[in-house]
Amino acid sequence: MTTHHQHEIIIVGGGGAGLMAALYASRGADTAVISKLYPSRSHTGAAQGGIGAALGNLEDDRAEWHAFDTIKGSDYLGDQDAIEFMCNQAVPIVYELENMGLPFSRTKQGRIAQRPFGGHTNNETKKPVTRAAYAADRTGHMILQTLYQQCIRNKVHFYDEYQVLDVVIENGRAAGVVAWELATGELHTFHAKAVIFATGGYGRVWEVTSNAYAYTGDGLAIVSRRGIPLQDMEFFQFHPTGIRKLGILITEGVRGEGGVLINNDGERFMERYAKTVKDLASRDVVSRAIYLELQGGRGINGENYVLLDVRPETVNKFAELDGRTFPDGRPFRVDREMILKKLPDIIDFCRTYLGIDPLESPMPVQPTAHYAMGGIPTNINAEVVIDENNHVLPGLYAAGETACVSVHGANRLGTNSLLDIVVFGKQAGKHAADFAQHNDFPTFPADAADAARAEVNRLLGNKPVEPAADIAKEMKAIMSKDVGVFRTEEGMSEALKAVRALKERYRKNVGVADQSDVFNTDLINTWELGCLLDAAEVTAASALARRESRGAHSREDYPKRDDENWLKHTLAWRKDGDIKLGYKEVNVSKYEPKERVY
Ligand SMILES: Cc1cc2nc3c(=O)[nH]c(=O)nc-3n(C[C@H](O)[C@H](O)[C@H](O)COP(=O)(O)OP(=O)(O)OC[C@H]3O[C@@H](n4cnc5c(N)ncnc54)[C@H](O)[C@@H]3O)c2cc1C
Repeated sequence: MTTHHQHEIIIVGGGGAGLMAALYASRGADTAVISKLYPSRSHTGAAQGGIGAALGNLEDDRAEWHAFDTIKGSDYLGDQDAIEFMCNQAVPIVYELENMGLPFSRTKQGRIAQRPFGGHTNNETKKPVTRAAYAADRTGHMILQTLYQQCIRNKVHFYDEYQVLDVVIENGRAAGVVAWELATGELHTFHAKAVIFATGGYGRVWEVTSNAYAYTGDGLAIVSRRGIPLQDMEFFQFHPTGIRKLGILITEGVRGEGGVLINNDGERFMERYAKTVKDLASRDVVSRAIYLELQGGRGINGENYVLLDVRPETVNKFAELDGRTFPDGRPFRVDREMILKKLPDIIDFCRTYLGIDPLESPMPVQPTAHYAMGGIPTNINAEVVIDENNHVLPGLYAAGETACVSVHGANRLGTNSLLDIVVFGKQAGKHAADFAQHNDFPTFPADAADAARAEVNRLLGNKPVEPAADIAKEMKAIMSKDVGVFRTEEGMSEALKAVRALKERYRKNVGVADQSDVFNTDLINTWELGCLLDAAEVTAASALARRESRGAHSREDYPKRDDENWLKHTLAWRKDGDIKLGYKEVNVSKYEPKERVY
């Protein structure tokens, strides 16, 4: 049985981007959010450090500097018009969140508190600037709760714990989606004038990741199976400081508050890699530095990790050596209470998961797969664009980590994703509502649910020859080894071949043992593995083709950035069982690409 629904706007995803979109869409149209998780469990809730905005609450700061830092951080692959738009919107949108009731941490004067983050600088002095607005180290949690409350107030319809399996595109226009109700195993069709994808990232492709279990790239797989290209998928960010082996994120805010990275020689090695900003260089730079330390045999006790030290005595020692001051000119010194107040969750995670108290001993850390710069291509209005000339697919929108506007280019700066999700979530909601007001419902095909039903039946009907978990494990190992922080032609070719072989085994050998209808997580996890394999394949194929190093894409065989040949966005289409690649221009409206120096 299939139940049919109709709403003017359907939003897939109840994280920060989805909820901001819902809030704005619901002001002009009948809006529903479909989410596989209960919305407040979305990964946005895990974001710790802060949201970037040049509020200038503690010292001089400007939206223009924020834009330039973002362009530089992106290794010049970000579209400069989109970046300028986002950074100009940052200040009003943070105040908008404050007015909605978001409980930001405060300065003594009662203003929104701010702290330094990697890559954010005063463009004149080149020193780190306090630009990250934060609510302790649970900024994302506060954004999510605030937006959810506002959506409830605005009477947004919620379909919680429904897994979207397919998008319906009819006569070149988005017409709705097909979803699986987790509690009952029933298929539902949703007819809509406009569909917004806000489904988050796909870090579960790698072994060590900061990402939630739900980060399986569903939105990417769904739209690309329907002929929509994915953009810049070779750029995946490894955050320098995940808890060793577990991958749980230790926010860059720790280094913003004065924490330093230390190798086995007791050396603060970032001084050698980024003379000016040291531990606060952009993430690609710091992750590579850690790898080089490990390769050079300077991991702790010869193992694959370094230490992150935020003990007050260490922080104060290096602050004194650096001559660091608070924005008001006093020497930068911290005590236990200050650290505890600003980083309560981090202290708690380490005490719980590691049995280590960061106030007493340093934390063992290693780079962790963190953030997808690539995704579903969109323009500044969050409309999905489907070719080299940026033609719009009417009625289809994307926002948040699943989208690629592109404001992060080849490397995202910390705090710019929370900003991206609210700025472009709002754009998606506003423009979808406008579209819904000016267009009738498209026709909805009678057979809309057939493909999703066939795939579910295939998975339930396949004889389980090998466990899906084994295939997942192999995929993670291959991608971590060959499509991670450092890459080569040989490694990536092998990875691509291996992922394709895994896809074949997945299709032939994987079935679902659990045949029940109620919360069949076996079925859903297996379906999600199919999405992850698609994401891994397109990442490896896009990466293999790009013969240069830029941002997070770092090749040992092509160690230099090559603007002459590669200052362009990748587009990857899934076609006849293969990946077809194309390229499109980067918007370079203001700043000519330069070498990045930190
Ligand atoms: C640990 C961690 C810390 C971070 N810290 C920061 C930070 O301090 N500052 C910063 O700027 N960024 C940070 N980031 C990045 C940032 O939090 C995320 O990129 C951002 O929150 C993503 O928001 P989103 O709305 O796009 O996705 P999410 O919040 O993940 O929402 C995705 C939604 O899609 C739904 N969904 C997915 N697939 C389906 C499907 N098939 N059917 C139905 N629903 C589906 C899910 O249920 C969920 O509701 C952090 C990320 C992590 C992992």
